[in-house]
Amino acid sequence: MLAPVRIVLVGPPGSGKGTQGRIVAPRLGVPYLSTGEVLRAQISAGTDLGRRIADAVEGGDLVPDDLMLAVVAEALRAPERDGTVAGYVLDGFPRTCAQAEAIDRADSPVPPPDAVVQLAIPDDETHRRLARRAAVDGRVDDADPSVIDRRLRVYAEETQPLLDHYRRQGKLVTVDGDRPLDEVTAALLAALATGDEDA
Ligand code: AMP
Repeated sequence: MLAPVRIVLVGPPGSGKGTQGRIVAPRLGVPYLSTGEVLRAQISAGTDLGRRIADAVEGGDLVPDDLMLAVVAEALRAPERDGTVAGYVLDGFPRTCAQAEAIDRADSPVPPPDAVVQLAIPDDETHRRLARRAAVDGRVDDADPSVIDRRLRVYAEETQPLLDHYRRQGKLVTVDGDRPLDEVTAALLAALATGDEDA
């Protein structure tokens, strides 16, 4: 039997990581996990963790790396997943080089990805999509223009360097995310199948 696939989706806010992740994960037969969703659920539930991270999440800043690795390991080890981390489609983690390096380590509770998909979209499209999403989902971090700018800056500074990390490992594929949803899905699946760097 083939080993379960491990895919990481990387892209700025609004690039379609959640939309595409939820579509491709069941097709690949692995769980989809959005770290933003897990963190927002902790905040809504008023847990200790939720209280510690609320300011960062609502202000568009990153949650500390050590907390994130524990959150992801715990979420992927959920009982309904047999207590083991096998395959995954991760949306929103890793998001810093330190997080990527943490899951490269042999003793990491979360194994490293086989492939990393960059969903590329222009900044103005990001703003349009987040405005639409704010109206539908009511996410506080989508509604405030200064928080959106902060998230885009954090993406450029903290997350974009990840792309080089994975390019050096020969794991990066880039998919043009600025086109109709089903075309992005098809390109993403094709890129995973062929491993071509641009799709
Ligand atoms: P997202 O839903 O992926 O846009 O994430 C929403 C927010 O959750 C981010 O702006 C961060 O505050 C926090 N977050 C999600 N994933 C991570 C991560 N891997 N590292 C640090 N903070 C994260």
